[in-house]
Amino acid sequence: MANEKPVLSSDSKFHFSCHPGLSCFTHCCRDVNIYLSPFDVLRMRKRLGLSSGEFLNRYTISLIGEGSGLPVVLLKMDEEHDRKCPFVTPQGCQIYADRPWACRMFPLDKCSEYDQFTILTDPSRCRGLEEPQELHVEDYLREQGLFVYEEVEAIFKLLSNSPRVLAEKVANPRIVEMYYMACYDLDKFRRFVFESRFLDIFEVDPEVVERMKTDDLELLQFGFKWLHFGMVMGDALKIKDEILQEAKKQQAVRKG
Ligand code: SF4
Ligand code: SF4
Repeated sequence: MANEKPVLSSDSKFHFSCHPGLSCFTHCCRDVNIYLSPFDVLRMRKRLGLSSGEFLNRYTISLIGEGSGLPVVLLKMDEEHDRKCPFVTPQGCQIYADRPWACRMFPLDKCSEYDQFTILTDPSRCRGLEEPQELHVEDYLREQGLFVYEEVEAIFKLLSNSPRVLAEKVANPRIVEMYYMACYDLDKFRRFVFESRFLDIFEVDPEVVERMKTDDLELLQFGFKWLHFGMVMGDALKIKDEILQEAKKQQAVRKG
């Protein structure tokens, strides 16, 4: 088919180098929809020294995914200044070390869950694609720090790609709220875990409990397990025996 973009694998090579000498430098940091993953939100707001709530309010908009009914979070562009990213400066990205997944991946994009990539743009817009430097896709992904996302968000991917979650649009606002909290609003999720009956209900390794008090990454991964348990019915978490016994007793009383 004419104009169809070639599909690359991690073994493929492509020409690319991005640097301030290019006429397009920072042009790609405006008028673009950047979806933020849970790990993106964690890294960016820590970099900025903000609470999760402050970061989400100030820098993001959240929408409900049409197919899933679950929330997705986008970086809020500056509508009054050509929809530019709030973090772009003439010298480049202000939060470069903690820039989002989508910015690390650009100009590549993943076109499936398998080893398939495409180039999102063309040399007329992204001059870096005309540079002589030739890169292996796999080396590029490594240099951009993308593999760590696969480790951190493995359970999140299992959850969001689960046939059970994909089969039916989530309509329960309580599930939507819990999903948003555990994935993106970690300060609120921490209060929920430690200030509710949560830890009376679930068996959680005491060392994990201790780490979750201060370690956001531990808390995020625990949140993924909790969502996976609740939405996919996995065995990622275990309910305490006494809670199960109590539930059985109450069920027996109701049946009369
Ligand atoms: S358009 Fe391409 S080369 Fe230009 S700044 Fe963006 S990524 Fe770099
Ligand atoms: S976060 Fe950084 S790299 Fe991404 S669009 Fe904004 S300025 Fe550009």
